[in-house]
Amino acid sequence: MPVDATLPYDDQNIFAKILRGEIPATRLYEDDYALAFPDINPQSPTHILVIPKGAYVSWDDFSAHASDAEITGFVRAVGTVARDAGLVASGYRLLANAGLDSHQEVPHLHVHIFAGRTLGPLLA
Ligand code: IMP
Repeated sequence: MPVDATLPYDDQNIFAKILRGEIPATRLYEDDYALAFPDINPQSPTHILVIPKGAYVSWDDFSAHASDAEITGFVRAVGTVARDAGLVASGYRLLANAGLDSHQEVPHLHVHIFAGRTLGPLLA
């Protein structure tokens, strides 16, 4: 079900539980600002989710309210995850759904990293 990303942050969302270690996930990368783990329902051979550690519902919430350090740290983490996964030479796609029309399902900001096959046109 798509979520309304204008609602306040819900600390019972599944990614908040992963951050707190209440739900298992393979922690591919973690630093002060971000956590990366594989998507449970991969849409490409490599499908990684990168989330900020702060409580932000969406890209809109994050870009409006996160500190400069959080934004820099998160953006750097996404790049590091892609580099560490060896995706730079073949290429990868970043995607962040935000709100109802995008079909965002989890109300904690996440960037998808898709790679490992030719992805084709952007919108399906
Ligand atoms: P969204 O549609 O951009 O919100 O994407 C949410 C993503 O989270 C989907 O690709 C789901 O497969 C993924 N997902 C949901 N629950 C889990 C989980 O427990 N672990 C890893 N990925 C999850």
